[in-house]
Amino acid sequence: MNQKNLEELIRSAQQPVIVTGAGVSTLSGVPDYTTMKGLTIKGRSFEAREVLSRPFFQAYPKTFWQWHRKQFLQAIELNKVHDWIARQKVPVITQNIDGLHRRAGSEEIVEFHGKADVGLCQICWQEIDLRDDKAIFSHTHGKTYDNTLDILADHVDTQIVLYGDAIDSRNFSLAQQWLSASDLIIVIGSTLQVYPLAGLVLEQESSKIIWIDKTKNEVASLYPDINFVQADFREFFEG
Ligand SMILES: [Zn+2]
Repeated sequence: MNQKNLEELIRSAQQPVIVTGAGVSTLSGVPDYTTMKGLTIKGRSFEAREVLSRPFFQAYPKTFWQWHRKQFLQAIELNKVHDWIARQKVPVITQNIDGLHRRAGSEEIVEFHGKADVGLCQICWQEIDLRDDKAIFSHTHGKTYDNTLDILADHVDTQIVLYGDAIDSRNFSLAQQWLSASDLIIVIGSTLQVYPLAGLVLEQESSKIIWIDKTKNEVASLYPDINFVQADFREFFEG
């Protein structure tokens, strides 16, 4: 199986869908949750998954937003997998929160775990592009702030699905609909270990799933009828 074969399969499918996971983002320099660095507050250290939790966000909003900027907004660029996926014009369900499929031009996307590049103003309920300081400063709502962090910490909610948050029900049902209606599911760079999305994929007929990743894990061994393609994305997706 190579990139050309995959493109032919997509063209002959009625309703193909692509599912992406952390492996696609790490190529862009976004660390995955297990290797992401946490932080320390007054000698107490928090792992990344603790920082990405609702209780932490509520207790230390400013620290959260400071850390968030470093992790998700700096030095992140599209890679050739995003570009290839956008060219296929196929609906995408992603576990990644970096917004890169959107930036690459994919139009139908379910961002299952939310969005790191967008915040929600809790005064006017508009979405704010967090990569744009001017956009953040347009949400001072009559008060004076010295910097964007203060605005964010004061009244902007993260659009990341934090640990302790529920998956957005519209995203959940859309993903479920697309997967069950699909006759070809291509999984790229996901370990299929993070639920509930992994469950939604794995409950589909194995024969319609192609799963591309650099290593084969125990989930792949449990589903021998899934067409597993072991490949390095840098080589597989030639551009
Ligand atoms: Zn606002």
